[in-house]
Amino acid sequence: MSSSRRSHSEEQFQRALKVIPGGVNSPARAFGAVGGHPVIIDRGEGQYLYDIDGNRYIDYVGSWGPHILGHRHPQVVFRIEAALKKGTSFGAPTLLETELAELVAELVPCVEKVRMVNSGTEAAMSVLRLARGYTGRDKVIKFAGCYHGHVDSLLVQAGSGALTLGTPSSPGVPQGCTSDTLVLEYNDFDQLKETFAKMGEQIACLILEPVVGNMGVVLPEPGFLETIRALCTEHGTVFIMDEVMTGFRLSIGGAQERFGITPDICMLGKVIGGGMPVGAYGGKAEIMDTISPVGTVYQAGTLSGNPIAMASGIATLECLKETNPYPQLEEKTQRLTQGLVSAASKAGLPHTLAECGSMYTLFFNPDKVTNYTISARNDTDRFARYFQGMLDRGIYLPCSQFEANFTSAALTDDDIDQTIQAAEEVLQEIA
Ligand code: PMP
Repeated sequence: MSSSRRSHSEEQFQRALKVIPGGVNSPARAFGAVGGHPVIIDRGEGQYLYDIDGNRYIDYVGSWGPHILGHRHPQVVFRIEAALKKGTSFGAPTLLETELAELVAELVPCVEKVRMVNSGTEAAMSVLRLARGYTGRDKVIKFAGCYHGHVDSLLVQAGSGALTLGTPSSPGVPQGCTSDTLVLEYNDFDQLKETFAKMGEQIACLILEPVVGNMGVVLPEPGFLETIRALCTEHGTVFIMDEVMTGFRLSIGGAQERFGITPDICMLGKVIGGGMPVGAYGGKAEIMDTISPVGTVYQAGTLSGNPIAMASGIATLECLKETNPYPQLEEKTQRLTQGLVSAASKAGLPHTLAECGSMYTLFFNPDKVTNYTISARNDTDRFARYFQGMLDRGIYLPCSQFEANFTSAALTDDDIDQTIQAAEEVLQEIA
């Protein structure tokens, strides 16, 4: 089974280990939490990944979010190829940058102006500086279990890889960098109100994932986002939604559109680049104009607004706008999650499932997961066995319990049936 079917991957991973720390360029890809070695991918096509041994997998990672349309969507490939013919980077304005900015401003409720960067981390770094520069305040609120990239001051009780690996903070982050970071529990209304009552006038910004993906999927309790909106307005605090994962996924206008709550600023990533390295931050023009060269808050990037990346993003957003895949995608996702829940129930396994749109997590946890403390009690050993069993059956899941699974518009009913069938077998096996 597994290792002989993936012997080429195993062998080539040993080669990577010699020259790349841990063999990976991002720890979230390492199989540290589930055992074994990562599968080395050769190519993707639609809803499938193919490894270098020639195995095919139904992909529920989608490059950790970007591929809502599946891999190599023809419209996206066409635009990338067209851009490539004109050159790869100029370090001067292009029409493509304006075109993508216009699309983002049209689709995302809070965005009047937007700045392109190269990753979600860069967007997070930039919004913190922007909010602090704009307000003249230092303190920031973040929530335990939310991940905003590997920004020093936000790497406190962070989710995703940092949570998986049990290192809630990282060596190399000086105490001083995090001393203005206030970490609150997600969905804790009282703690939130108390914090604003005590030090509201010192808080530059509050940053959160409006639906969390990085401690597994966790939804905001009814009224939580509304309360945040009201408190931020009352205290002159910049409300930042990190929509790197949820943007263009939970609806074309992201979580802010889905929940009808408009932040002052939002961060974007993943889908906005359609698989190319793009991050962005945008919001109210008055705040965005604090950024250089209009204002004095500095932020820059040699490759920001890269034409190939912009072309990929434009094609992706245009395709989403034209085809509106969301209702169908959600229907498919619900059929899948209902299948998973019923398989887990039949196997008698303690579980809960959280979902929003095309993001979901099957938690090996009997309790509803509403925050970091509860998520930390997931049965990660059982998850590891689930993950490996699914992988052996050609289903590629995120390699950690503390991540969101992503569905794509390319998934067929057959793929979903196969996935449920595999889950029924694996969940029986590990019960
Ligand atoms: N914010 C959120 C909500 C994310 O999920 C991620 C990455 N998973 C980031 C920020 C960081 O983005 P990047 O990995 O592109 O730096």
